[in-house]
Amino acid sequence: MPPSELLRCEGLPRFDAIEAEHVDQQIPALLADLSERFTTLEDQLRERLSEPDSTPLSWDELMPPFHSLGERLRWSWGVVTHLTAVRNTPELREAHARQQPEVVRFSNRVGQSRVLHQALRSLLEQKNNTLDPTQVRILETELLSMQHRGVGLKGDEQQAFNRTSERLAALSTSFSNHVLDATQQWSLVVHDRDQLRGVPDRVLDNLAVNAATADGPWRLGLDMPSYVPILTHAENRDLRETVYKAYVSRASQGELDNGPLIEEILALRQEQSQRLGYANWAELSLASKMADGVDAVETLLEELRAAALPVAEQELKELNQLAASRGAKEALAAWDVSFWAEQLRRERFDLDQEALRPWFPLPQVLDGLFNLCERLFAIRIEAADGDAPIWHEDVRFFRVHDRRGEALAGFYLDPFSRPASKRGGAWMDECLNRRRQPNGDLTQPVAYLICNQTPPSGETPSLMSFEEVETLFHEFGHGLQHMLTTVEHPQAAGINNVEWDAVELPSQFMENWCFDRKTLMGMARHWTTGEPLPEADYIKLCSSRTFMQGSGTLRQIHFALTDLRLHSQWSPELGLSPDAFRRRIAETTTVLPPIETDRFLCAFGHIFAGGYAAGYYSYKWAEVLSADAFSAFEEVGLEQDDAVAATGERFRNTILSLGGSLRPAEIYRQFRGRDASSAALIRHSGLAASTG
Ligand code: ZN
Repeated sequence: MPPSELLRCEGLPRFDAIEAEHVDQQIPALLADLSERFTTLEDQLRERLSEPDSTPLSWDELMPPFHSLGERLRWSWGVVTHLTAVRNTPELREAHARQQPEVVRFSNRVGQSRVLHQALRSLLEQKNNTLDPTQVRILETELLSMQHRGVGLKGDEQQAFNRTSERLAALSTSFSNHVLDATQQWSLVVHDRDQLRGVPDRVLDNLAVNAATADGPWRLGLDMPSYVPILTHAENRDLRETVYKAYVSRASQGELDNGPLIEEILALRQEQSQRLGYANWAELSLASKMADGVDAVETLLEELRAAALPVAEQELKELNQLAASRGAKEALAAWDVSFWAEQLRRERFDLDQEALRPWFPLPQVLDGLFNLCERLFAIRIEAADGDAPIWHEDVRFFRVHDRRGEALAGFYLDPFSRPASKRGGAWMDECLNRRRQPNGDLTQPVAYLICNQTPPSGETPSLMSFEEVETLFHEFGHGLQHMLTTVEHPQAAGINNVEWDAVELPSQFMENWCFDRKTLMGMARHWTTGEPLPEADYIKLCSSRTFMQGSGTLRQIHFALTDLRLHSQWSPELGLSPDAFRRRIAETTTVLPPIETDRFLCAFGHIFAGGYAAGYYSYKWAEVLSADAFSAFEEVGLEQDDAVAATGERFRNTILSLGGSLRPAEIYRQFRGRDASSAALIRHSGLAASTG
C-alpha cells in the first residue's frame, strides 16, 4: 500500500487501505505540512500587503492556495470522521480522539490569522474589482466567521476571548455529562408485571434485559427507548407520574445540578457577544443566518403560536373527554397526555406502523424515489456498484445523469443499521465537492447518504417503516442540493455556505413527496404479492400527519422562544432565574403549565451543549420554507405532470443549483417569485382556522 493513501486528498477514497494506525502516523504529518505552508502563505501575504504601490491582490493569487490547504484537511480528516461513523473500531475511535485537538488547533490558528483577514478584506474592498456575486459572498462569509472567532480583537481582549471560549466549551461538556449521568443514574425496578399493563411486549423484553433477567423484573430508565413507551403505553397512572417527574427534573439537583452552569453560560455568551460588537448572543447568532434579525424570528414564531394555541387547547379538551368517557376522575396532568393521545390515535386511525412494512421494500422505495427525481428534476439515477471503492459490503454506489446521459454526480448509499460499528441516525455528508480546477477540469460532487434502517434477513429484503421511508427522502434532499449544484467555487457549492436555518429546505421539501399519491402509490406494493397499498391505509397515513400537531407545534415554539429570549432578553439584573423566565414564556406557549419540579432547561442540551444557541428556531424556519416551496407544486396541481416538471425545473435551477452562492432569501425569491409565507406550513399541519 502506498503510505499516502490517507493523504491523497483527491478522488474517491480507498477505504479498504485506510486503518487506525495510518491516522496516528499520517494526520500529524499532514498538519505539520499544512501549518508550514500556511506560515509561508502568511509571509507572502504580509509582503504583498506591505508593498506600497504594487498591483492589488487578486482572487487567483489568494483563494486557490488558501482553499487547497483547507481542502486537503477536509479530504483526509473527512475520511477519518466518516470511517469513525460507519466502520468504527476501538482503535479508530482512539486515534480519532487523539488527533482531533490538533485539527481544531490548526483551524483556530487559521481562523485567527490577522494577515489572512487583512488580505481577504483588501481583496473584497478593492475598487473596480472583478469579483462576481458568489466570490463576494464567499469573502463576506469567511470574514464574518473569522470575526466571530475573534480575529479583530487586540492583545488582552483576544486572550480573554480565547479563555472564555475554552471555558464555554468546558461548560458545554459538563452540561451534557450531567444530563447523561442523571439519565443513567435513575432507574426503577418493577417486580409486578401488572404494574406495566399496556406496555408492548417488545419494550418489556428490553426492560427485562436492562434488569439482566429474561422475563422480569423490569428495569425502567429515563433513556428514550424506555421513557417514551412508558409514558405512551403504561396504563398505571402513578407509574407514569413517577417516571415523568424523574425525567423533567433531570440534572437539577446536587452534584449534577446544571442550574449554575446555565447562568454562567448565559453570562459568558453575553460577554463574548459584546466583545465582538453585538448587543447579545442572539444578534451574534443571527448575523450568520438567513433570518434578518430577532424581530423577524419573533414575528414568525408568533404567527405559528397564534395558529397552534387554539388547536392545542382543542386537542387537550378532546383527550380530557376521551379520558372522562373511560372513567378518568380528574383532569389530565402532564404525565397523561402521551398516554391518552395514543389511545385517541388508535381509536381514530387504527394504523399499525409495523404492519405497513411489507409494502415498502428498499429496492422498490429506491425506484420510487429515483422516478420522482426524474419526474421533478429531469435526472436519471443508475446503479454503478463496483465503480467506486466501498467501506462495507452493504454499501452501494450510484451515478446521477442528466436526460442526455451526461454524468453530473455520484453518491454512496449505506442504508442498514450495524449497531456494533456504525453510529445511529441518518445523515448526508460530502465526499467530494463540485469544483472547477485551475486547468479547467471539473470535479464532480459525490455524496455519502447514510441511514440506519432495518437490514434484510435471508430472502426478505429490507422492509421499511414509513418513518424510514421519510428519512431516506429527507437525506436524499440534502444529497440533491450537494449533487445538483452548478456552482464551481467549492466554498459555495452544494450545502457549503448555506445558512443554518435554510439548509433543511431541500430535505424537508423531499419529505412532502412521501404523501403525494402518485409517488407513494407508485412505490408501495406488497413485496410478495405485488398488491398496492390499500386506499384506506393511504388515507390514514395522510390524515395521521396532522394528528396532535397543535400540541407538537406549540411545544417547538415554546423551546424556540425560550432559547431566543434567553439569548436576547434575559440578564441577571432582571432578578428572574432562567427557570422563572422560562415559566413566564410558558404562560402563552403551553396548554399545561410546567409542574413545580419541572427543570427542563437543565436538560436542554441543544442550546447549552450543542450548536443551537439562539438557533433552535431554525427547525421551524426551514419548515416554513419547505412547506411553502412544496405548495408551489400544489398550486399547479400535483396531478399535472407538465406543470409539476416545469416547477421542478425551477426548483432545480434555483434552490438546488445555486446552493450557497447567493443569499438564501434571494434564491428563494427566484424560485417562488415572492418571500416565503407561513400559510402552507399552517395548512399542512392542520392548524388553519376553519372557515366553516
Ligand atoms: Zn436534515
